Amino acid sequence: MGGTFDPVHYGHLRLAEEMAEAVGLARVLFIPAGQPPHRGAPRTESPHRLAMVRRAVAGNPRFAADSREVDSPRPSYTVDTLTALRAELGDARPLWLLTGADAFLGLPTWHEWQLLFGLANIIVATRPRAQPLAADALPDTLRDAVSHRLVADAGDAGPAGSVLLRPMTPLDISATAIRDTLGRGRSARYLLPDAVLDYIHEHHLYGQP
Ligand code: ATP
Ligand code: MG
Repeated sequence: MGGTFDPVHYGHLRLAEEMAEAVGLARVLFIPAGQPPHRGAPRTESPHRLAMVRRAVAGNPRFAADSREVDSPRPSYTVDTLTALRAELGDARPLWLLTGADAFLGLPTWHEWQLLFGLANIIVATRPRAQPLAADALPDTLRDAVSHRLVADAGDAGPAGSVLLRPMTPLDISATAIRDTLGRGRSARYLLPDAVLDYIHEHHLYGQP
């Protein structure tokens, strides 16, 4: 699961928990982007974003933080990360890219996005305020690329190449709203783990005194 995680919050964690359960994943790697090619520089330096992810996943034996994108001086391309993970796993083991609906709808703008299907399966979670996830409601380019890949159940997927659209408990939480709330001096408690909030206060992130 990739993201800027600026900061990581319960929307990310719950997505990972529900999708991991749906697919029967042995392990979920949270991989904060170093230099996201897609968007402006994150508000927060990557070591802080990684440290917050580490705090968020501590205590869940199935979750781990992965620093490979943060450690790389190059832009963070998902295709490169999945290529590296695939090389580590070998060709036979299933690998799943976890995304929310808004990220998935932007897939055709990602670097070498057509190659992603050869490397991993993709599971897409619904997200409040994102476009609803129905096969026939996808934009043309995306529909053409994925319609023959859609599976209704993770059991129907092989090591790579399938796409599973899946509802999750709607949590209308975003890092943007958390940054904004903190910046205005308001409480973000219960939107993200206390351990992450403690880190934000310790390091005076997002305008905290
Ligand atoms: P920002 O507001 O800065 O864009 P964000 O909350 O969208 O932050 P990202 O790091 O951009 O978080 O998202 C990482 C991944 O998590 C994306 O695939 C995104 O779709 C998904 N995601 C984030 N929040 C939610 C949520 N509340 N429900 C479902 N998916 C989510
Ligand atoms: Mg986002």
